[in-house]
Amino acid sequence: MVTITRFAPSPTGYLHLGHVYSAASAFRAARESGGHFLLRIEDIDVTRCRPEFEAGIFEDLAWLGFEWEEPVRRQSEHFDDYAALLAKLSDRDLIYPCFCTRKEIATEIARSNSAPHGPDGPAYPGICRHLSPAERQARYADGSPYALRLDMVKAMASVPLAALRFEEVNKGFIQCNPAPFGDIVLARKETPASYHLAVTFDDAVQGVNLVVRGQDLFAVTHIHRLLQALLDLPTPRYLHHGLISDPQGKRLSKRDGAATVRSLREEGYTAEEVLKMIDYS
Ligand code: GLU
Repeated sequence: MVTITRFAPSPTGYLHLGHVYSAASAFRAARESGGHFLLRIEDIDVTRCRPEFEAGIFEDLAWLGFEWEEPVRRQSEHFDDYAALLAKLSDRDLIYPCFCTRKEIATEIARSNSAPHGPDGPAYPGICRHLSPAERQARYADGSPYALRLDMVKAMASVPLAALRFEEVNKGFIQCNPAPFGDIVLARKETPASYHLAVTFDDAVQGVNLVVRGQDLFAVTHIHRLLQALLDLPTPRYLHHGLISDPQGKRLSKRDGAATVRSLREEGYTAEEVLKMIDYS
């Protein structure tokens, strides 16, 4: 089978060395097998994404010597597709609207003292799970903001647990257990799809059969595998690579102001030197 990989950055900032490592790993996996390397712009959150960052991604990747196939998929051009997925899940009663504020959720978690903890922190305590249809209508009508949450218990009950596995390259099959994440958000009133929903659908629709990305996204792959099962989507293989560190051993992340490709270029580094920094040549 021809390998199809992708690099899927969000244009919320300029590419840094961590991104370069992901792009290089995916590019190499495709090239080694004569496969395809795709680029996807994950711009669901239109409040944080900016056109100059998207332009910067293209420019930096080209400067580094990566070539990707056209057309580039942009998530903001597919909001209708995500709405159709949500409608499917809604028809099966697997999602529900949640009108809670962050504060209400935190208060309930503190009060109940028994909220299960998922890999992302305490799971949603289920306040809106059992609102009546009339209560939901009233809240929609008063214009309250809301999120659409997956009913994790119902979702898990609707798929055979043993089938929830994925293959991690060099490690073998991983049995999934998305339950500890609880009722995750799949969309918000203002944001038509969560990262989880969009990434799962897009990988399938683009024919991606090897997802190469950082180890920090390993845990959420359990959620993605569940969504694949619920939406009848194929399961790619996964390769979660280690995160690279700076010379002091600190993990590089955008938040820490890690060196951007742009700033390194401005300092006079060549593309070859930047690729050497991530041990790619
Ligand atoms: N858009 C995500 C990010 O920039 C990557 C998603 C993925 O590779 O699955 O962190």
